[in-house]
Amino acid sequence: MKKNNNKERGMFGLPLQVKYCKKCNITNQKPTSINEYKHDKDTHQIPIEFDKNNVCFACKSNEKKWDGQINWKEREKELIELCSKYKNHKAQYNCLVGGSGGKDSAFQSHILKYKYGMRPLTVTWSPTIYTDIGWKNFQSWINTGGFDNYLFTPNGKVHRYLTRQSTLNILHPFQPFILGQKNFIPQIAYLMDIPLIFYGETPTDYGTKVGDEKLFEKTNKNSHPGYLQDPIASMKIEDVKLGGKPISSHLEQGFNVNDFKCYLPLEPTKMEEKKIKTYYLGYYLKWVPQENFYYAVENTGFEANTQRSEGTYQKYASIDDKVDSFFFYTAYIKFGCGRAMSDSSMEVRNGHITKEEGLGLIKQFDGEFPKKYEKDFLDYISMNREEFDKLCDKFRPNHIWEKKSNRWELINPPWE
Ligand SMILES: [Zn+2]
Repeated sequence: MKKNNNKERGMFGLPLQVKYCKKCNITNQKPTSINEYKHDKDTHQIPIEFDKNNVCFACKSNEKKWDGQINWKEREKELIELCSKYKNHKAQYNCLVGGSGGKDSAFQSHILKYKYGMRPLTVTWSPTIYTDIGWKNFQSWINTGGFDNYLFTPNGKVHRYLTRQSTLNILHPFQPFILGQKNFIPQIAYLMDIPLIFYGETPTDYGTKVGDEKLFEKTNKNSHPGYLQDPIASMKIEDVKLGGKPISSHLEQGFNVNDFKCYLPLEPTKMEEKKIKTYYLGYYLKWVPQENFYYAVENTGFEANTQRSEGTYQKYASIDDKVDSFFFYTAYIKFGCGRAMSDSSMEVRNGHITKEEGLGLIKQFDGEFPKKYEKDFLDYISMNREEFDKLCDKFRPNHIWEKKSNRWELINPPWE
């Protein structure tokens, strides 16, 4: 069985035949979430599902938003009911929204507080390296939007070490930020006695199949591997992987187990003890990134960047961390799925641009090297450009890339 699978699968367990969604242009190499605590260089990804007609799962689940299958008035009523259950909660805050003051967290926190009368605490796991526009938007969120905020900045030495490790071992420079941010939210909910957490869009928006689009999975049974309640269940802490290597190997570098605790999940018993529940606001309210942007501009003083982000055409999503553009660049190397493809496929699904316009944007911008923050990023991970390029080449699957007259090219680009 396994041998047979290997014949059809290439590097990272990706399907050998590269295909693009008939509707939104996304590649079938695009991975969905996995259990990051087991992620190392040999990990097989779980690629986005395509149906027989080459339509991706993200397209199918987004269609439901627009084709009348969902009664949004009913969904809003459900949200009002949910909120009413927590209105009399005795602690200072009755819900929690994580984020950095980008368009999505600005939208979520503002609408919950000012339209639905909730008392959210906003919490922020600091970006790896703040951009100027990111810091400005973060300040506007709190000061113009009007929120209490809890900003946590992890130990810079540890975070920098882990960012270098995750780049070296799994070419995933954003893993430490993603894990930190994800786990910080329930930790604070527990400490501050906040029983209700709101996440933004449901994972299905990006093509990850989860059992429940409303409530974050409660058990480990039938859950998507990237959405387990206890992803380190039955693992010894030394064996848990961070940055593509077990914690035991980091301890050999002179770190202490406690240095890594804020990257690990809160024990499920603690979630149960305080009856903490996590819901996706995107289940209740129609989640359209562009609409969130307009809402944030109007209500929290959010500003788009003056220039487009490198690798794409847009100016307003994921602009607060200098590492962001390298996260997208490395995904382009590993999966042939760049930032313009991610952005444009979402906009095609939401009807803002056509499939053909999306293709043009992918052809023009996908894979552009992030020059603007090159020095900041490479200094941060103590690498020079030559070392970084060589490292990237080790992570290029040979069913996606070929070298032609000393230039890497996609073997089967979406526009051909
Ligand atoms: Zn699609």
